[in-house]
This record gives sequence, C-alpha cells and structure tokens, in this order.
Amino acid sequence: NAPPVSIFETGWLKRVKDEKAGTVRTRFPPEPNGFLHIGHAKAIAVNFGFAKHHGGVCFLRFDDTNPAKEDEIFFTSIKEMVNWLGFEPYQVTHSSDHFDRLYELAEVMIKKDKAYVCHCSRDEVNLQRGGKDNLGTRFACQHRSRPVEESLTKFRAMRDGKYKPGEAHLRMKQSLTDPNEGNPQMWDLGAYRVVEKNYHHRTGDKWRIYPTYDFTHCLCDAFEEISHSLCTTEFFLSRTSYDWELEVLGFKIPKSDEKGPMQREYGRLNVAGTILSKRRIQMLVEGTTVEKKGIDGTTQSVRIPPAVRGWDDPRLFTLVALRRRGIPAQALITFVEELGVTDALTNIQITRFEAVVRKHLERTVPRLMLVLDPIKVVIEDLPEDYTEDLMVPFDPKKPDGDSRSMPLIRTVYIDRSDWRDEDSDDFFRMAPGKVVGLQNTKFPVKVTSFERNSTGRVIEIKATKAEGQKPKAYIHWVAATAPTVTVRLYNSLFKSEEPNALDWKEGGWASDINPDSEIVLPNARIEQVFEKLSADREEQIKGGSDNLLRFQAIRTGYFCVDLDTSNGMVLNQIVSLKEDAGK
Ligand code: ATP
Ligand code: MG
Ligand code: MG
Repeated sequence: NAPPVSIFETGWLKRVKDEKAGTVRTRFPPEPNGFLHIGHAKAIAVNFGFAKHHGGVCFLRFDDTNPAKEDEIFFTSIKEMVNWLGFEPYQVTHSSDHFDRLYELAEVMIKKDKAYVCHCSRDEVNLQRGGKDNLGTRFACQHRSRPVEESLTKFRAMRDGKYKPGEAHLRMKQSLTDPNEGNPQMWDLGAYRVVEKNYHHRTGDKWRIYPTYDFTHCLCDAFEEISHSLCTTEFFLSRTSYDWELEVLGFKIPKSDEKGPMQREYGRLNVAGTILSKRRIQMLVEGTTVEKKGIDGTTQSVRIPPAVRGWDDPRLFTLVALRRRGIPAQALITFVEELGVTDALTNIQITRFEAVVRKHLERTVPRLMLVLDPIKVVIEDLPEDYTEDLMVPFDPKKPDGDSRSMPLIRTVYIDRSDWRDEDSDDFFRMAPGKVVGLQNTKFPVKVTSFERNSTGRVIEIKATKAEGQKPKAYIHWVAATAPTVTVRLYNSLFKSEEPNALDWKEGGWASDINPDSEIVLPNARIEQVFEKLSADREEQIKGGSDNLLRFQAIRTGYFCVDLDTSNGMVLNQIVSLKEDAGK
C-alpha cells in the first residue's frame, strides 16, 4: 500500500503552487456574519492545508466591513471552528485593522483619477450598466467626469458624515464606458459607501463610511503579503478587478503575478440534501412568520415554529452542529481531501460524507454496550449477590488490546428490539423458550416466562442459565446497575431529498420537516465503564478540543457525548452502523 499522494502535490493545487515561487502565505477570510458550514471546511482545509503543506503561513482574516451584520459570537465561533479542525492561524487579522490605510488609498485612487464620488441611486447605476440583464448600452453619469478635486472634497464630506446612506458613494473608474468590456466586475464598482447602522465592534463610531468587499479584499491580501489568494469560482470575474485595483495602486505589475498576491478560484463544496444558506437555517432555528391569503381575500400572519433547537442542532450542517453531533474533525478534513480540489463545483450526497465518517470511527473508537430501550431480564438460577467481572476488549478484533471489566449480575437489561413475545423459527434472539447468548458471557440463557404491566407492555423476563446449549444469536446487554443516559437518534431533517427546492418564501418547508428527524430515548442504559471514560469530559469539551468521547455501541450505532451536560448525560448518534439503517 503506497501512501496516498497529498492533494497539495497533484492537480489544481499543484498547478497553483507552481504558478508562483516563494513562501506560501494564504488567508481564510470569512465574513463574521454567521456560523460556518460544511462548505467552509473545504475553504479552511484548502487555505490552511496548502500553507501548512508548503511550510508557509495562513491568516484568519475577518472580513468585517459590514458593521450592521456582524456579531461578536461569530468571531468567537469561527476562530473556535478553525482550531477544532486542527489549524492555528499564523495571525488573526481584521479588514478593519486597515481602515485608515484603506481610506488613504481611496484618496490616492481619486487623485490618480481612478475613482469618483457618485450621487446616483442604485436604479440609476443599474441603468448605466445596461439595465435589466445588462442588455442596454452602458453609459457614464455626469459625476464620472467631475474634477479630481471635487471628488476628493466630496469623499472627505462622506467621511465627515455630510451625506446620508445612498446620497453619495465612491466608485472606481474602471471600464464602464468601454463597449468591449463584457466583465461586470469592471463596470465602475463601488469602493466606499455611507452606512446607516455604522457602529463597528472594533472601530466604534469612528467611521460613517465603509469600504466594499471588492475594494478591500485585494488590498488586505497585499498588506498581509498573501502569495496565493484562494477563493471559490463565483469570484472568477472578480480576478480582473482584483488585479486592476492592485495595479492602479502599485501593488502589482500589469499582466504579471510576480509581484503581489495572485487570486485563483476552486469549486465550492455543496452537500446535497442539506440547507447551507444562512437565511434558511435562520428560519429553521428561529421559525418564521408568513402572510397567508384567505379565500375571503384577507391576509393573516401565520407563525411557523422553529424546527431545530439552535445553530448547533446536530441535524444541521453548520460546523458547530457537526461537532456537536460528534463528527470527528479529522474525518471532515479527510472527506474534503478525498473529494479533491478542482475548479468544478463538488456536489456530494450526505451518504458519501457519512461513509467517510463511519470508516474513520470504525478504526478509532472503542466499542461499548448501550441498550436503547431496556427490558429487565432476571437470570433466576444465579444467586442474589452473584457478580462476575468479565474482561472484555474494547476492540473485538484485538483480543489482547485494552479491555474493561463488565459486571454480570443476576439482573441485566437487553434491548426491546431483541425481544419477541412469540417465538418463531426465523427469529434467533430472545423469545419464550428460546436459548440466546449474551455477548461476552460464558453461558447462554433460556427464557422461562415474562411479565406485562397493565398496558400490556413487557416489563420483565425471567430466564435460567442454559449451559452447554448452543444459541443461534448473541445479543448485547448491560447489568441492571448500569447508568441511565438519554440518547438522541438522528434522521434526515426533511422528508424530501432536496430541501433546497422547497418553498422557502411562503413557509412551505414547514410541512416537509421529518417528524422522526430526532428520536429521544430517555431511559437508555450504558455499561459502567462509560462513567470512568467520561469523567474528565468537562476538560475535554473546553473550546476547540476534539477530544470528545465517541464510541461504537455494539449492534446499535456510533455515539458521542453531547457537549451540553447541564441536563444530565446525553448521547448523540453520530452515524448509524450501516448506510440506510434507521431511515
Ligand atoms: P455563505 O453565503 O454560504 O455563508 P460566504 O461565501 O458568504 O458563504 P464567507 O464568510 O464569505 O461566506 O466565506 C469565507 C470563505 O469560505 C470564502 O473564501 C468562500 O469562498 C469560502 N466558502 C464559502 N462557502 C463555501 C463552499 N460551499 N465551499 C467552499 N468554500 C466556501
Ligand atoms: Mg462572502
Ligand atoms: Mg454569504
């Protein structure tokens, strides 16, 4: 088995590396306006991984140029998720660290007659860009040719709060009027705008104007001496404006990548059957109000309740949710790496993701016994105080490896799904008169009778040792003294395969929520050693660590201790044992 070739040494990533010599410096530049999702794991793996592989550095840069949408919690969470995925930023920076320098460069641009203050409305600007579908003739407004001095004065007036939002904005003087310029990114993009809710979490009340993404991104790349500015393909057309601006301001040599940062674009990662859009996840988290027209013509507000508990609900595909569900960070990185990086969109089924997770867990976690829905079994011919300490290896394939002690006592629990009230020839597990094995014990047992409660539910089974007899099946079990845990099993959040195609505007998604997306089992029992394994969980769950307690529950699934232990011990199902189990 030859070691797999690193994704950074083949294909797209190799070509991008070869395009530029010197130290690799990359950045991961999220907007701090939401929680990261599974797609961002690709951006993180690509940017941090590329730098790490080539002995370079990667910045975590918060692109915080839109104060109205930013929130402290997003900064904290994004940083934590980068750490969780196993990366440490070389530096954590903010676009706002550079607001003074960005402002000065905007003035430089104006002085070079490469930017102008414009007072046109959004509609007017759209018209100048050819109107609907950009099919009309493009034209300049009267402000485009105003004297440099005038733009400079007006820009300073913008800065000094003399204009309201929309009354003035700075535009780059690109190729709007060139009839041969087909790239909309060159049609005099906005560079600065007046912002209404202008309190910035880092610069406070200092600024009333804020730079746009287009103006800011390439310059911050240049300030941080980024070598490879890797982004997703929807920015392909932006590469032209990126280079244009850096050339105008002297950070790049025209038609050359030798000096200054170089932008290259890779395909986004999309996981089919999941909702990744911030706005849509927000509806799931907060619920939403929709206006419904009645047959009598009146409209009524209808409140749709939340479908999940929060942004980290394990049924979502945000990174905080995947972590909470127990997905190992390394499995996520492996998933991204196995898909590879090209400039094509990667559209992947959830089952493929789960298969990678399952394979990773199969090799890395211990096996324990967990009984989801317990029924008591009394082995009547064992003495009341009978205790036998069975030594059971954590990995049955490694009988000499680490093991734990499992006490066998007179009363045990088995899972209700392993029981049938009536025996039949095609059933091999526990039933009246049947001999069945309890895994890892030295003798099978035979059912002699069982008891129901007033509602007819079986509550206790009586059995005896069946020494010397050969059972057809072995089932899992725990001692009656085993601790109780709450278990949450997960299925797809939606009934339909493609929830993105649902009606999100009018609230039609609500009727597609799968009522079985979360199944809670409050009385599950887990074998004793679990208490010892999870004793230091408070330590394990502290920010960023991926040391969560995960295990394979034999014959049941993969589980992880929930991060929130305030309501007692909760286990989340990470994935089922096999594809399609539980659907
Ligand atoms: P979204 O709108 O889905 O939240 P975004 O692009 O607005 O995504 P940013 O915070 O700007 O989110 O993203 C930071 C970086 O992550 C960007 O470089 C972006 O290209 C990249 N990224 C975002 N989504 C994906 C994805 N699905 N696959 C790969 N990279 C992504
Ligand atoms: Mg973005
Ligand atoms: Mg976005």
